[in-house]
Amino acid sequence: MSTSPETPSSAKPAARPKLVRLPPLPPAETVYHRIRARFHLVFFLVFVALPFFDVMRFDLPRKRFYFGGVELWISEFGILFFSLMFMMFLIAASALVWGRVYCGYACPQTIFSEWSVRVEHWAAKQINKRFGHWNARSKYVAAQTIFYSVLAVASTFLAFCFTAYFVEPRDLLDRLMHLDIETAAGITGSIVTLLTFLDFVFVRQKFCTTVCPYGYLQGMLQDSKTLLVTYIDGTDGNRICIECKKCVRDCPMEIDIRDSAYQIECIHCGECIDSCETVLRKMGRPGLIHYAWGESSPTRPASEPLLKRLGFRDAKRVAILFVLGFYLAGLGVALSMRRPVMVRVQPDRTVLYTRLPDGRIVNKMRLNVANRSSLPVSVAFQIEGLPGAELALEHNPLRLAPAEAFERTYELRVPTWPGAPDVNRFRVIAQPSNEKTPDIFSLTFIMPVEKRNN
Ligand code: SF4
Ligand code: SF4
Repeated sequence: MSTSPETPSSAKPAARPKLVRLPPLPPAETVYHRIRARFHLVFFLVFVALPFFDVMRFDLPRKRFYFGGVELWISEFGILFFSLMFMMFLIAASALVWGRVYCGYACPQTIFSEWSVRVEHWAAKQINKRFGHWNARSKYVAAQTIFYSVLAVASTFLAFCFTAYFVEPRDLLDRLMHLDIETAAGITGSIVTLLTFLDFVFVRQKFCTTVCPYGYLQGMLQDSKTLLVTYIDGTDGNRICIECKKCVRDCPMEIDIRDSAYQIECIHCGECIDSCETVLRKMGRPGLIHYAWGESSPTRPASEPLLKRLGFRDAKRVAILFVLGFYLAGLGVALSMRRPVMVRVQPDRTVLYTRLPDGRIVNKMRLNVANRSSLPVSVAFQIEGLPGAELALEHNPLRLAPAEAFERTYELRVPTWPGAPDVNRFRVIAQPSNEKTPDIFSLTFIMPVEKRNN
């Protein structure tokens, strides 16, 4: 499928003279296959490590979000909002500048799809090598059995890593060890394992052009300066391409880059660049396929200033950079204002007041306290402006373990006095042990009306 009309360079010759061989050129300096293999290894390790080291993880059962090692609570909406918006625009900005390089070099779907194809070929090769005398049917069944067995183990591991982005890894491991298929996390893990297995056996790269929206998004985001993989050849008798089709055979997406630089299947991996260089350098000519900043100026000189080459004078790019900077600044401000201990005190007005046998008046207060830090803390409460007031806590200060939170309603007991107003203003001072400044809440205490007339 192509997103743009074919370019003039894509017209293939009906018949062409044999290319004159020249002395071979030295091998190309850049081999994208090797670079990709390294990137794939690094990004595979990143994919596995992120949830285990809390670099990025949603803990759905506990309603927490981990970002860069910081534990965020679902109530910290500002930080979550700025983090997610920043990541969304970062993806948009990278797609605008570098095209689908993420798909070719970093996407777990691409990494595991290509790995699955390699395992299938490896299994067939091993069976052929060791049991070459078997009939074709037996060899096929044996190779497929090995392939499915390896994929079953790998799918369990990958599904575990993926589910760990949403459920605490140790908790998840415990469920896996007990073959839990009853709780929500256990059922999710089992379904993800099955889907992963089916994906890497049957879907693989088809996922990129059927399910994944990123390829379609890329079509909307790219402009005339976006990084592309493009094929450049002469016309008519000056054509260099020898129609060997190695670029097509080596393409993981099974497309022909000579048809267009704007094919939605193309993940800009650069494998076809290596293929063409390998073939043509032996014949004394450089390859015909290149990475280029936009098809309109593929030969843009490397000496051109980087900002100009990347197109950062373009209004759309400047606007995206501006929005990116805005969300990054917002995230910085929200993080700097974050307090490790959250305290909220609100009056509970279900009942305005009650009277105790000893004559004291009771108003109920709802306390919401959360320790977001990794150390134990205590919070001391003090009442100001209500003489003789007693906040009926079990312990004051309250002690909280790391990540502990609670919400409870307590009685505030106050002795009444002649002429006491029905609405009394007072303050609750909450002083966390790990902070210098206290949280101060200005509230009202309701007394019986008749007391005012005494
Ligand atoms: S590898 Fe190069 S020479 Fe061979 S078909 Fe592709 S573009 Fe033509
Ligand atoms: S056409 Fe080239 S760059 Fe595009 S997916 Fe195929 S091999 Fe990769």
